[in-house]
Amino acid sequence: MIYQPPFWQEPKKTKFESVVKEIDGEKVILEETYFHPEEGGQPADKGTINGYQLKDVQKVDGTIVHWVEENDLEVGDPVEGLIDEEFRYYCMRAHTGAHLVYGAGRKVMGEVSYAGFDIGETKARIDFETDVHVDNKKLLKLEELSNRVILENRPVRWKVLDRDEIETSDEIAFAKEIPEGEKVRIIEVEDWDKGVCSGTHLENTIEVGRIRIEGKKKLQEGVTRVLFSIAEEALDRDYKDKRSILRVTESLETSIDDLPKKIRSLHRRLEDMEEKVEELESEKIEQQMENFDKYQCEDFNLLIQTVSTEDTETLSHKAKDGVGSDEVMVIINERETLSVIIGVGEDVDVVSANNIIQSASQEFGGGGGGTDHFAQGGGFSADTHELRQSFIGLIK
Ligand SMILES: [Zn+2]
Repeated sequence: MIYQPPFWQEPKKTKFESVVKEIDGEKVILEETYFHPEEGGQPADKGTINGYQLKDVQKVDGTIVHWVEENDLEVGDPVEGLIDEEFRYYCMRAHTGAHLVYGAGRKVMGEVSYAGFDIGETKARIDFETDVHVDNKKLLKLEELSNRVILENRPVRWKVLDRDEIETSDEIAFAKEIPEGEKVRIIEVEDWDKGVCSGTHLENTIEVGRIRIEGKKKLQEGVTRVLFSIAEEALDRDYKDKRSILRVTESLETSIDDLPKKIRSLHRRLEDMEEKVEELESEKIEQQMENFDKYQCEDFNLLIQTVSTEDTETLSHKAKDGVGSDEVMVIINERETLSVIIGVGEDVDVVSANNIIQSASQEFGGGGGGTDHFAQGGGFSADTHELRQSFIGLIK
């Protein structure tokens, strides 16, 4: 026979009497216990035995062992166990909720297998073995179906079956870790989900209250973790979300329904404006480029101009391809750090763009380089005027 712990029959019982059967320091075994050990993804119950705080509850070789803080309990002592009601109820809701989400998973993703489950302090998770890509649309559907089943208030029942019956049924989830023994316990949410499970559950779905899918994580190829919160935690998160959304709708002067449309239109406007700014910027550079200061030198003309732009690409292009065959072009860019681009025309062989940059670097720090006909540098410690005068001196 399978051992049927009393918390299967009475999961809501949080106060019970028993007798100490064995004790070894902190380790206490009772004749009978309603404390749920850490098992199958459900954390150990919290609570007290005769007022002593429980530190842990584990199943050791099939026996439920309580770790109790320093105590004077002795074998044969009558004890009162008090289970932390709130935490137990949260676990019951989360565990029942997991069966709802799993059932929904089968409807949304088709073929799925159970790959793990765990109840955390505020969120629970269930791992699905599935090849289906779980996108936001599917997560939303999972949430919708799970909450519908809550509202339908379906009964949740359990029974003990022969292991053979489980292995031949493909309806039953959680079947991968069939416990040792000839019998196993099955939890059934009417016409929704059946699974092998040893945890504490509600007797109906409505008490789960609310399920909120919080997200997913791909653990490995073919395994997706789905996180969810339940009841009060889920509602708190709902309110927080709604508050944020309302703040956004207020500032954008729109409604929740129209929000996606509004954001799309703002996005388009932004793109248009960015394009316009880019156009204006390059127009501005073009204009500045038309007004180079010119110096007549012996074998060439020196053109020099100071600009301020982030569009260094246009500057490089200008110095490379816009320089006349008998010209030396110097463009000083004042934006953020002072940088210089030099283009030397193909017929000018008395000036090397690279050498000029190297000389400027020696004088003002910074660095850069290039070829005889094109070079650029930056990081100079000088002001624009100083730099300009220096380049004119170096080139002339
Ligand atoms: Zn369960």
